[in-house]
Amino acid sequence: MHELAPYAVTDQNSEGRVHPEPRPAARSEFQRDRDRIIHSTAFRRLEYKTQVFVNHEGDLFRTRLTHSIEVAQIARTIARALRVNEDLVEAIALAHDLGHTPFGHAGQDALNTCMKDYGGFEHNLQSLRTVDSLEQRYGGFDGLNLTFETREGILKHCSPHHARELGHLGQRFLDRTRPSLEAQICNLADEVAYNNHDIDDGLRSGLIDLDQLHAVGFFSRHVATVRGEYPAISGRRLIHETVRRMINSLALDLIEETRRRLSTANPGGLADVRSAPPLVAFSPTMNEEGRELKAFLHANLYQHYQVLRMTNKARRIVTDLFGAFLDDPRLLPPQYQRMAEADRPRAIADYIAGMTDRYAIREHRRLFAVGEIWLA
Ligand code: MG
Repeated sequence: MHELAPYAVTDQNSEGRVHPEPRPAARSEFQRDRDRIIHSTAFRRLEYKTQVFVNHEGDLFRTRLTHSIEVAQIARTIARALRVNEDLVEAIALAHDLGHTPFGHAGQDALNTCMKDYGGFEHNLQSLRTVDSLEQRYGGFDGLNLTFETREGILKHCSPHHARELGHLGQRFLDRTRPSLEAQICNLADEVAYNNHDIDDGLRSGLIDLDQLHAVGFFSRHVATVRGEYPAISGRRLIHETVRRMINSLALDLIEETRRRLSTANPGGLADVRSAPPLVAFSPTMNEEGRELKAFLHANLYQHYQVLRMTNKARRIVTDLFGAFLDDPRLLPPQYQRMAEADRPRAIADYIAGMTDRYAIREHRRLFAVGEIWLA
């Protein structure tokens, strides 16, 4: 690996794993984390979960899997440029969405509503829960036994109530300190990835068009650059050339602004990073452009009537499933029935959160399609 800056996370300054294990023979601790994540069941399911579009609507749209790979790619570029731990950012990026419900934000909001009297549902916390306990594949422990720093990066947000229950890992949400630079990078790389791929997928789906997008300064400026270079360009090539430039501009801006902040704060080590104000950031100008872009996507894509029709159904599926299992936990598969003995609503939330889009649709049909009565 490239030479790391003094404020990077390393195998040496890592706070380690809950269950101590021998050091990996040929890998870093964070490569091992990444490998465990890639081999997990939850990771494979990301292929069939979505953010904005429902999975089977088109083979060309992003899934949570391709999204996570895009986040990892952007975060690694930034990490290498800033001389921090590339293996760690890769592990965090690949794991950051593991706890997401089926049907993206709609599914998550619905599950949170279902769970409001039972401790709520937070997708970041669910990602942590997935790697800490729900994955059951190792002989010596539940979960993947990841390092503190990977787990810290996965837990991007957390309510004070849950932070208190998490002890050391939740402490920073209570005393308002920062996570590692690697975690901060992943957080913003996630934003770069989804804003740009939502534009790309939004255009591909036909729900938004180029004329509308010209109202967004950041987009139209990059379109103008592309047309200046390739006057005859159009269609998918124009969109891709524009999107790749936007991602590049965002990543470069982030690197530049972060370098500026690092040279001012001059952190001597990890402890200084944690106590400093956020060090990984976009410039104020880029922040403003980002806000404009997000507002556009919100108004024109996420609130598009065809998207709302879909998310409305998604919400109904999640709510119906939760209600049916809460009324009669004997309808749960045996493994979740056992978990329900300890905490029924939480076991149901774990079961639903683990579903892919298509599994949730089928499960809803099995439970509610009264015209189809047979063993299911
Ligand atoms: Mg994400």
